[in-house]
Parts: sequence; structure tokens; C-alpha cells
Amino acid sequence: MSTALLVRDTALRAPPDPVRPSGFVRLRGVGVSFGTGPRQVQAVQDVALSLAPGEFVSIVGPSGCGKSTLLNVLAGFTPTTAGEATLDGRPIDGPGPERGVVFQQYSLFPWLSVRGNVAYGLRVRGLPRAERTRVADDLLARCGLSAFADHFPEQLSGGMRQRVGIVRALANEPRVLLLDEPFGALDAQTREVMQELLLGIWQRFRTTVLFITHDIEEAVFLSDRVYAMTARPGRIKAEVAIDLPRPRTHAMTGSGPGLRAVNELKSLIREESLRALGGELPPPVPVP
Ligand code: ADP
Ligand code: MG
Repeated sequence: MSTALLVRDTALRAPPDPVRPSGFVRLRGVGVSFGTGPRQVQAVQDVALSLAPGEFVSIVGPSGCGKSTLLNVLAGFTPTTAGEATLDGRPIDGPGPERGVVFQQYSLFPWLSVRGNVAYGLRVRGLPRAERTRVADDLLARCGLSAFADHFPEQLSGGMRQRVGIVRALANEPRVLLLDEPFGALDAQTREVMQELLLGIWQRFRTTVLFITHDIEEAVFLSDRVYAMTARPGRIKAEVAIDLPRPRTHAMTGSGPGLRAVNELKSLIREESLRALGGELPPPVPVP
């Protein structure tokens, strides 16, 4: 077993430290269904996964397989119907400032400046104004956004808004950052730059990151590990370790171990996408 694997396994087995909670995420036997009776949809089933503190993990899977559902469970927006989700050993039973969330759609408050958006969560937590401004300005400076502090969201490009969204999510010093296809609406070039910026931010803050995407190159470029899901009901189909050094470059996903990981994940997801399409066929007529 490689050293990296050993380190990771040790981290995963280490009991969570209640004094210094550090972003250890675990799902065990998690199932989520929506609706009741014949309209019931089993979105995910028997999902087990874990993220070690500071680890960058992605989940890929065909559309509709339950990726957002899993993220929403961890965010505390969606209750599980089976199993358990924990952060640092504590069950997740609602949203909380120790979990920062960024969605694909821009969710900045249009009536607040960039600084106001970043400071918003601190305001909710009751920090005095001077302290909020200091923390927000410091974060914006560390993420190269000082020049935009007084701008309003409508004055920013899509990429810039998502950058501010990430900084806003970091303002509460979350133990885990949950990102649901945050670059899904961006053009390919902006997307690559955003991926690099995200890694820069992550390497500085070392928060645990769970990144949802259907873009396999993106997952491989960013992650320490990638989980591939099955078609609905979503389960974990495979887990692929990304043995690439950091800092990463986009060229790394085009050859060697990076390309092998991309191809492995592509064939896993392709199987599932085909299965999902087959699943759209009408059910057989019951024999009386
Ligand atoms: P993904 O993010 O992988 O595309 P989702 O987690 O959004 O998938 O959805 C998984 C499945 O659960 C889909 O079939 C979706 O239609 C269904 N679903 C998600 N949210 C709800 C909801 N609130 N009510 C009913 N069905 C839902
Ligand atoms: Mg989704």
C-alpha cells in the first residue's frame, strides 16, 4: 500500500477530536426518498462515503443520480430517510455555519455589495460591524478580490460571482465546503481558470471540500479522490484515487495517471448513463 493511502486510511480511522473539530465527513447507509406511495422516488440508496479533514473529494455521476441530494443531506437541507450523515462525529440535522455551500446558480444577494455579501454570514452570527468588515476585507484580499469589494453582483461576470460565492462561503470558516456544480454555467475557458483559483483557495485554507460535478476532467483535475455514482437510485459504484502531484496543471488530465483516471471514470459513468436511459422504458405490464 502506498504511503499516501496509509496516511489517508489513518486519517479516516482517527476518532474525531471534539475539542478541535476538523472537517471529518461521513455518510453511512444513507438513503433518501421523495414523495409517498406510487409516486415515491428513491433518489439515493445505501450510500457510504467519507472525507478526511482537508481532503478534496468529488462525486461524479449521470444526471439525476442523486448527487445534489447527497450534497443537500450534508448541507442539512434534506433529511435522510435511512442511515446517518455526520460531521466530526455529530449527526447533521440542519444547516449550520460550519458547512459552507455554493450552488451552480448565482446565489449572491443583489442588493448587497461584494463586501456586504461576504460579511453577511458574520452579521447573522452577530459579529459587530467593524469586525465583519475587517474579516470580509481580509478574505477578499487573500482571494485577490479587493478591487471588487464595493461592486454589486450585477456588475460582475458569472465567474467573478462564483468566486465571490466561494469567498462568502469561506467567511464563516467552515469545516467543510460543499460545492454543487459551481462552474456548470461557465464557458470552458472561464471554468478552467475558476478550477485553478479554487485549488489556490483550497490550498490556502485547507478546508475539507466536497465537489459535485458531471465533468470528469474537472473532478480529476481538482480531487484527491473521486466517487462515481450509479444511476438512480444513486449508490457509490466506485472510488478512484487521483495520484497526481500538486500543484496541478490541466495538462495532467491528458496523459499518464491523470488520463487513466479520466478514462476509468468515463467508462464507469457511461455504463450508468446507458442504464439510466434504459430505465426510462415503461415497466412491463403485470400478468393477471
Ligand atoms: P443530480 O444532482 O445527480 O442530477 P438530484 O439529486 O437532483 O440528481 O436528483 C435525484 C433524483 O431525485 C431525481 O430523479 C430527482 O428528480 C429526484 N428529486 C430530487 N429532489 C426532489 C424533490 N424535492 N422531490 C421529488 N423528487 C426529487
Ligand atoms: Mg444536481
